[in-house]
Amino acid sequence: MNYADTGTTRRRSHQREVILAELAKLRTHPTADELCQIVRRRLPRVSLATVYRNLEVLAEQGLIARLELSGQQWRFDGRKDPHSHIRCVTCGAVADLDLTPTPTPLPEVQRHTDYAVAGQHTEFAGLCPACRAAHDASLPEALA
Ligand SMILES: [Zn+2]
Ligand SMILES: [Zn+2]
Repeated sequence: MNYADTGTTRRRSHQREVILAELAKLRTHPTADELCQIVRRRLPRVSLATVYRNLEVLAEQGLIARLELSGQQWRFDGRKDPHSHIRCVTCGAVADLDLTPTPTPLPEVQRHTDYAVAGQHTEFAGLCPACRAAHDASLPEALA
């Protein structure tokens, strides 16, 4: 990599800031693809590969969370306080779930193990309101 090219370096860090700022506004836990569409309103020429690479770096730095959802595309979360998630089994939508007690913060977990703690996986599953409505509408009246 050519560090003398400060123009490129500046552009790269600007891209990362925009990606982080846009993700922080969202509560939808977008995939890299979905976030790329949103980021393009501010950076029309940004590629999906660039968005994906920046999300990886931000996740490694602990600035965002990468949600590990079984059999799905990665989804990303700009919200950093500990919270749980609920995923729709039909459309894959993910919503925050504020429960007490909250999930244990990772630094706290790290104090209790010699494993290098890399993440945690707490996820509930169900039907989102939109899919519930569609599901109810498709039932015969006698069953609804
Ligand atoms: Zn749904
Ligand atoms: Zn979340």
